[in-house]
Amino acid sequence: MEVKQNISLKPYNTFAIGVQARYFTEINSVNDLQKILSDPKFEKMRIKVLGGGSNILFTSDFDGIVLKINIPGMKKMEETDQHVLVEIGAGESWDKFVRWAVENNWGGVENMVMIPGTVGGAAAQNIAAYGQNISDTLESLDLYRFDQDKIVTFQKDDCKLTYRSSIFKRELKDKAVILRVRFRLQKSPKEFELDYHERKARYESTIEALEKTAEPPYSVKDVMNAIIYTRSRRLPSVDEYGSCGSFFKNPVVTVKKYKELAQEVDELQSYPVDKLQYSRKEWDKFDKDEDLVKIPAARLLDELGYRGKWTGNVGVSEKHALCVVTNKTASGQEVRDYIKRMQQDIKNEYGVKLESEVDIVL
Ligand SMILES: Cc1cc2nc3c(=O)[nH]c(=O)nc-3n(C[C@H](O)[C@H](O)[C@H](O)COP(=O)(O)OP(=O)(O)OC[C@H]3O[C@@H](n4cnc5c(N)ncnc54)[C@H](O)[C@@H]3O)c2cc1C
Repeated sequence: MEVKQNISLKPYNTFAIGVQARYFTEINSVNDLQKILSDPKFEKMRIKVLGGGSNILFTSDFDGIVLKINIPGMKKMEETDQHVLVEIGAGESWDKFVRWAVENNWGGVENMVMIPGTVGGAAAQNIAAYGQNISDTLESLDLYRFDQDKIVTFQKDDCKLTYRSSIFKRELKDKAVILRVRFRLQKSPKEFELDYHERKARYESTIEALEKTAEPPYSVKDVMNAIIYTRSRRLPSVDEYGSCGSFFKNPVVTVKKYKELAQEVDELQSYPVDKLQYSRKEWDKFDKDEDLVKIPAARLLDELGYRGKWTGNVGVSEKHALCVVTNKTASGQEVRDYIKRMQQDIKNEYGVKLESEVDIVL
């Protein structure tokens, strides 16, 4: 394995930030990892664990070693009448895994097609899309803990998955590497998560997209194709722009606060904190003022005119007000300054704190 010195990280993050890493190496096996961890040269050095770099913002040169996780492998471990258990290397592309599952007619991840990045990154981030969450199917994973110098198995609960976060973004951030992840998928599924829709139907709901693109009875592949159809129109292309998808988490506020904001912001939705889809039937279910609800940050940013607004090399996508984009020449600091302004504007106007979903490396 090769350890490179002073290399640009531009090809390794979807914001295309061109900072330099003092050292950089690709980890293809546990053996590779152990070699680095036992090398006295790197003993005291700062480590950054990197997957596909699709949810990370480097703000300056990285004076340490970047471990780019490439661990491969996709295999079926067990099969029953209804389920399969699969094990996927942390370095595999998440999108490739979804398409492989769908080709086999296994359900549970089809709505999360086209999410960039790796399987390890997806678990660390606790990804979700179109009403489906990785935690619905993730069963367990193996990780290498630097403090214990050994491989450990975590069940789903040990991963402490929370909204767009996990133990790997908190206590074990850059202190462990996810090696492989196991998912329990449903064989030949008949029921699908189709509840997702948008305010004022700016784009089709999942069910509308499905009706447009396929004939019933729908298959898992039909659902995946409907999501591809919607996503391709709704999200900025990383070929064209630097982006990490949604930059901020949707804020959680009390029902009291939500009601105040709804006076100001036309058709402001609220939805359960533990669910990510826009489920119209549940919008008005909350009545106690102290209950917590989630509100769409994009809606607030849209109100302040952020959609399509650029300052220099950084802007917000025309397609989605939560997607901060760059022209691929922006520095990390420029992006950071831009997002600070967005946070400040939302705080001043609505008294709401916007938290980053992206890992900002200072
Ligand atoms: C256009 C676009 C659309 C997107 N759409 C969605 C979406 O619909 N839903 C969604 O949830 N996200 C979405 N994202 C965000 C992003 O794709 C996901 O968060 C993705 O799972 C990140 O994976 P990664 O491998 O790129 O992680 P990275 O960005 O490389 O890393 C993210 C974090 O995970 C840690 N990490 C990475 N790999 C490992 C590992 N093996 N072991 C331990 N820690 C690790 C890193 O240290 C970092 O803290 C989108 C991004 C883009 C650019």
